[in-house]
Amino acid sequence: MNMPRIRFAHLPTAIEALPNLSAVLGGPQLFVKRDDQTGVAMGGNKARKLEFVLAEALANGARTLITVGAAQSNHCRQTAAMAARLGMRCILVLSGQPSKQANGNFLLDQLLGAEVVWTTRTEREQTLQMVFEQAWADGARPFLIPLGASTPVGALGYSLAFDEFLAQKMEMDAIVIASSSGGTQAGLVLGAKRAQWSGRVLGISIDHTQAELSARVAELATQAAERLGEPFSIVAQDVLVEDGFLGAGYGVLDEPEKEAIHLFAKHEGLFLDPVYTGRAAAGLIGLIRAGAFRPKERVLFWHTGGTPALFADEYAAQLQG
Ligand SMILES: *Cc1c(COP(=O)(O)O)cnc(C)c1O
Repeated sequence: MNMPRIRFAHLPTAIEALPNLSAVLGGPQLFVKRDDQTGVAMGGNKARKLEFVLAEALANGARTLITVGAAQSNHCRQTAAMAARLGMRCILVLSGQPSKQANGNFLLDQLLGAEVVWTTRTEREQTLQMVFEQAWADGARPFLIPLGASTPVGALGYSLAFDEFLAQKMEMDAIVIASSSGGTQAGLVLGAKRAQWSGRVLGISIDHTQAELSARVAELATQAAERLGEPFSIVAQDVLVEDGFLGAGYGVLDEPEKEAIHLFAKHEGLFLDPVYTGRAAAGLIGLIRAGAFRPKERVLFWHTGGTPALFADEYAAQLQG
């Protein structure tokens, strides 16, 4: 693949076995891919996408990165860190309210020197557009990175991540991943299709219905394939999405997420996050209990990061004790 790329993530990330958790849950054989350890400002999946998206920004002569997310966005934290390393300005459009004391990812955004514009979740896209136009008018040479860096170019990072997984020669029957803006799953689905992999790539939806998310992932994967000059058409029916674990909505931590976070920590010494991997692991556990996997099957839980959000007051308060 010779798409412009800036290499900064620590790759390949490790694959580790989770024997204790597998035993506690009564199978299948569980493994974890440690994309919580991609090396950029406490890790996470956005590093792989930003390697491609930021190469695009630099090729466009950008001097300011503008992106968007929730107050505890991991994507915003990793973007702000890369802006710092590249000597660029960074403006984050965050939905929610500033906490009295900055904490979790939002504290890190501040340390990284990002400028923050607050908005609501419903007005987020509109605010983002306004901030971009203002920065353009001011001559700041802004580059707009959409939610989660989930563009076709960003998804290429996860197509390569799939190749990296294959090169690690760990046979798996399924990959389970948290899926929200869809770029991560789109890249993995594309990678699996290019390799004619026989396993399944199952996205546990964080905040969308199955119909919405599978259509979005299919569209991104198809557009990413076009960027590679490869004529794959991926349709929604090719994309496996489970939307039975949406709980009370985005970022709302409840019993299933808490149980998953505690089980991974207590039995494997591994930290999940309250918003994404906690919910995806809750989904995996729920599916295991419902008999969705045979005991002999090998299942890779792809850890996408997010652990700094554990230290956000609203989540820490619920996880203690
Ligand atoms: C952004 C994010 C995801 C979701 O990835 P998408 O590509 O947006 O679907 C999953 N886990 C963590 C920790 C994230 O920050």
